Amino acid sequence: MDTDVGIAGAGPVGLLLAAELCLAGVRPIVLERLPAPSEQPKARGIGVLAAEALRRRGLGPALDHEHDKGLAALAREHGTTRTHFAWIHKIDPDTADPGRHGALIGQPALERLLRGHLAELGVEVHFGHTVTGWAEDPDSVTLTLDTPTGTRRITAGHVAGCDGGHSTIRKLAGFGFPGTAPLMTVRYAQARVRERDQLPPPGRLPGGTLFHEEGVVATFDFTDPTADRSGALSADEVRESVRRVTGVDVVVEDFQGGLRFTDQARQVDAYRRGRTVLAGDAAHVHSPNGGQGLNLGLTDAVNLGWKLAATVRGADDALLDSYTAERHPVGAAVLHNTRAQSALLAPGAHVDALRDIMGDLMDLPEVNRYLARLLSGVGHRYPVPDSGAHPLVGTHCPPLTVGGAPLEQLTTDGRPLLIHPAADGSGLGDRVKAVRAAVADDERLSSVLVRPDGVIAWAAAPGAVPDHEALRTAVDHWFPV
Ligand SMILES: Cc1cc2nc3c(=O)[nH]c(=O)nc-3n(C[C@H](O)[C@H](O)[C@H](O)COP(=O)(O)OP(=O)(O)OC[C@H]3O[C@@H](n4cnc5c(N)ncnc54)[C@H](O)[C@@H]3O)c2cc1C
Repeated sequence: MDTDVGIAGAGPVGLLLAAELCLAGVRPIVLERLPAPSEQPKARGIGVLAAEALRRRGLGPALDHEHDKGLAALAREHGTTRTHFAWIHKIDPDTADPGRHGALIGQPALERLLRGHLAELGVEVHFGHTVTGWAEDPDSVTLTLDTPTGTRRITAGHVAGCDGGHSTIRKLAGFGFPGTAPLMTVRYAQARVRERDQLPPPGRLPGGTLFHEEGVVATFDFTDPTADRSGALSADEVRESVRRVTGVDVVVEDFQGGLRFTDQARQVDAYRRGRTVLAGDAAHVHSPNGGQGLNLGLTDAVNLGWKLAATVRGADDALLDSYTAERHPVGAAVLHNTRAQSALLAPGAHVDALRDIMGDLMDLPEVNRYLARLLSGVGHRYPVPDSGAHPLVGTHCPPLTVGGAPLEQLTTDGRPLLIHPAADGSGLGDRVKAVRAAVADDERLSSVLVRPDGVIAWAAAPGAVPDHEALRTAVDHWFPV
């Protein structure tokens, strides 16, 4: 066997999964088709849960640095730093969950940060290595690779497909990928529009939505949802789409490249088949509206990393299956809200009316908060086996102070963490790192057991007698090896 885990794809999700595996004691092989890192501008930011996951690994200062630049750019382009639902820019994420923030960071900068983090853990990315074949037997998976020095084969105990929306692993391993067909084709070009002053201001128009700023033009084109997407985007194609959406014929010049994608919404039925797992866009695709793809994919990676590492060490498959049980509903919820956003972007007087009403509703604090939490996923609770558990069990732990320091300073090693003013963790073996301290900042908690992905596995409320039997059960359940 060449490796315990082979990872296809060194996008943000593959990089973070590789790092999480390393922290949990498993060194993966990371295979990337591109000859060198991509500088393609895609996502401009990550949501609360992904940002908190990276902060728990010590990457907070780098995120803060990028965030300040991103805020300034957002204010310049949209006249507000509020986020949007279906391009109605009214959502105030800061009041939804005070103290919990996403981070505005461009995807190339994020990937650089994650590559640096992974390099510090001693793992290199094999660029120019395209996975072209996959074959599973009872003990391993064999991957065929197209490499700069010819065809190679490697065997891995498990394979993680983090190879994006067109995932080769997903197709070769036979995952079902049901969902809904697109309503629109999005074309996002880095280019100059010669007669830009003749274009209407960015916004919704009879054929779709137009966005333009210096050096960028994008169309959300509802007139050709099933456009041919096989070739690279061209300046002529962008010009045609601008004409269909706006009725204005312009010259698109200084074309530096771009992206073409749709709002089709699809998700695999299960995130694991045998020895193969999927994460990120390989497991779910949807429109980028609301900026949720990275948040979803990076949270997949942190949910999966420690579980897959435990499986390598001999944990029962039930632990790995909890990855699907926990993450599939979250992905389904994102697909659901992106479909609603597509519907709200469709052209026409009826949708204009609906958007006006939606905009008014978003002025109501409760609605604003509801939408902010819908997009961030902060309110989601994973299935909890113990019906009597503390209400925060199954949710992502908010930032806490422990012994005067932020919790994230205790989690850089990726170990399960028990914070308890009395217990020293004795009897729990070395499966958890126990810190004798009280939790501050949250009046709902006195003691807490936090999984490596930041999810609360057990908790006690202030004034309540901590249920140590339930604590032991939680440790046995989540950290069996
Ligand atoms: C215009 C745009 C704006 C967006 N904005 C946001 C946003 O603001 N916020 C947000 O959260 N999300 C946003 N998204 C979505 C986000 O970019 C994706 O969800 C994210 O890139 C998914 O990461 P990933 O690692 O799963 O996949 P990818 O980033 O696609 O990475 C997959 C990697 O696998 C490699 N690969 C593919 N096939 C193979 C193979 N056979 N062998 C080896 N390697 C392979 C690819 O080269 C690639 O490097 C946006 C997307 C677009 C297009």
